[in-house]
Amino acid sequence: MNEWAKLDLVVYFAGSLIALTQSIVFLHYYRLFRREHLLLWSGSFLALAIYLATAGASWLLIPHFPAAHPLRLGVSSVSLVAAYIQVVALVMGTLAIWRQRRWTRQQIVRALVLASVFGVISTLLFAFDPSMVQERLVMRIGLRYLITAAAALSMGLAIAWHWPRRRLGQQMTALALSIYGIDQLHVFSAYVLTALGGESWPWMRYTTIATLLAPLFISYGLVIWLLEDERDRAESATDAAERLRLFDQLTGLPNRSQMLGHLSQQMQHAQGAALLLVRLDNLGNIAAASGMDGVDLALSSSAERIEEVARANGMVAARPGADHIAVHGAGVAGASAAQRVAEQILAALALPLFCNGREIAIEASVGIALAPQDASTSESLQSRAEMARARAQSDGAMRYCFYAPDLDVAAKARLALQSEIRSAFANNEFVLEFQPMLDGWNLEVCGFEALVRWQHPQRGRLLPEAFINELEPLGLVETLDAWVLEQACTSACAWQRIDREIITVAVNVSAYSFQRRRFPEVIEALLKRTGLPAASLEIEIIESIAMEHPEHAALSIEHLRELGVRVMLDDFGTGFSSLKHLRQLPFDGLKIDHSFVVDVLIDPRDAAIVRAMLALAHSLGLEVVAEGIETAAQLAWFQSAGCDRLQGFHFHRSMPQQAVLELLGLAAAAPSKSQMPVS
Ligand code: C2E
Ligand code: MG
Ligand code: MG
Repeated sequence: MNEWAKLDLVVYFAGSLIALTQSIVFLHYYRLFRREHLLLWSGSFLALAIYLATAGASWLLIPHFPAAHPLRLGVSSVSLVAAYIQVVALVMGTLAIWRQRRWTRQQIVRALVLASVFGVISTLLFAFDPSMVQERLVMRIGLRYLITAAAALSMGLAIAWHWPRRRLGQQMTALALSIYGIDQLHVFSAYVLTALGGESWPWMRYTTIATLLAPLFISYGLVIWLLEDERDRAESATDAAERLRLFDQLTGLPNRSQMLGHLSQQMQHAQGAALLLVRLDNLGNIAAASGMDGVDLALSSSAERIEEVARANGMVAARPGADHIAVHGAGVAGASAAQRVAEQILAALALPLFCNGREIAIEASVGIALAPQDASTSESLQSRAEMARARAQSDGAMRYCFYAPDLDVAAKARLALQSEIRSAFANNEFVLEFQPMLDGWNLEVCGFEALVRWQHPQRGRLLPEAFINELEPLGLVETLDAWVLEQACTSACAWQRIDREIITVAVNVSAYSFQRRRFPEVIEALLKRTGLPAASLEIEIIESIAMEHPEHAALSIEHLRELGVRVMLDDFGTGFSSLKHLRQLPFDGLKIDHSFVVDVLIDPRDAAIVRAMLALAHSLGLEVVAEGIETAAQLAWFQSAGCDRLQGFHFHRSMPQQAVLELLGLAAAAPSKSQMPVS
């Protein structure tokens, strides 16, 4: 063995040792980072180590064994299998990190098996024919160099093609792969030369060093690439954490703390700033009808629409609270511009929205506060916008309102009222009164409407309009409904006489209670508990409750009617009064609102409408009640129009239970004083 051959051997074994070290380094990184390409790289360098070691061993075996000896063939097979596995694993690993490719286990195994089979076949081809030494060499060694060269060069050039700026790892890998590819091509050409009977390149001996160093630089490049990649991942994870801290996840809008920061800057650096606070007021109802999916959809599409309006007006949107979306900006000069933005927001929210094929109607209120006139800090600007918004909400759905100093006073009064309401529940200050309803034919009392009153310790007897809207923000609507229902049913039990027609009790039920899925079951249990016949109970709901989710309302009404409970549509003539809903929903009857009753005698056109409505209702088999009859003339008109029941001050005002019993001639049977639930 001459000096050069010894050097070749040193290169093989030293290269094998270096490759083994690289393989261990990648395996270590794989354990740390658990990324697939590291395992592929580790495998590739292990295969390179095996290839180099076995290639060196093959050289040592040549003088001692013939070419077709099983030991030489075995060592050569291992060597070539390892060589092809090295190429395949290197390419797959590099593609995994470079192109973010995810290989399946099956794909990896398949590629490695293919490489192995190819390695074994190319070892055995021409192995048993001594006359084909050159072909065998080209097949076994030359082809391996050619394939390795093609793979390394194409990978290197592909990565270098879009020269990765400021990515040392990728740059180094691209260069080292290209050099490795050129070196392997060079070695291949030498083999072709010798196979054709010529001499190898004279400089061949000196380039062996490239064969040793190129894989080393490839692995350095890959390690640096890995570290740079991990740094990027850490940075993007930090960005994501920062986004979570500053942005709302559902809508992607800035959250409250970021909004207040922006707003402060706008208030400091600009002449004036505006804050519009939008609240989606009916999320509770949407949740009851469409579940949390509906709520998420309502919130995200509202946010999108509001953000679009904000952008068009040079403003910024944010989500400062669960059901609030804000729009703020320094570019909005004065009240008229802010008013225009509020109108655009409400118009955008009024556009139809569908969840699983069902329409969701969004109800919103907008409060507007302007700096510097309304507040000097972003926090107080927000609280003033909220006061204005609360006023807008109490004015009705889809309204906006500007902050005004008297709202402060009103807000304080509201707070005081809310705390009084809480103690009213605890102190049993609510009482139930009953207003008689008369049969339209013989004007005999046939039922009563239960109406709640608040016996306020200082302000005396308060009507529902003074407090009923305040129950919702306190979450006490259902508590009141439950108490009224219990009280009304218990009281009505005392009115029933076996020998007479049943006397009904009509109870007004809020949207909150009626839209609960289990409402009919609650009524069923209540009737069982109190012993009131189902036919004696009437539930009054207003049109907006029924209209919001007609299919759900229809199911509940149907269920209640199956129990024998009657369901009436209250305040007919005040809302949208769609006759279509009358046909869709299986009501037992409708109550014509007091305002319509008044109009009938003033405007002949209203009279014609009510007459037509009565005819239509009767043709649909619905009973009609006229409420708010105050004069003999109104009584006469409705009686002659064929109204089934009449109610109003002309006959009786609402009265306590004792007076009901006296009116029905049952005074002796007065029940004990009612008890309020303590909430
Ligand atoms: P509503 O269900 O339409 O009740 C009829 C209202 O008309 C009652 O007012 C009654 O006192 C009034 N009224 C009756 N006859 C006449 C009349 O001849 N002229 C005039 N001007 N008014 C008449 P009230 O008691 O103030 O109740 C107002 C509304 O408050 C009710 O309208 C109902 O929507 C709600 N409400 C009353 N009690 C309850 C309750 O227990 N629970 C719930 N959820 N709501 C209730
Ligand atoms: Mg009513
Ligand atoms: Mg009414």
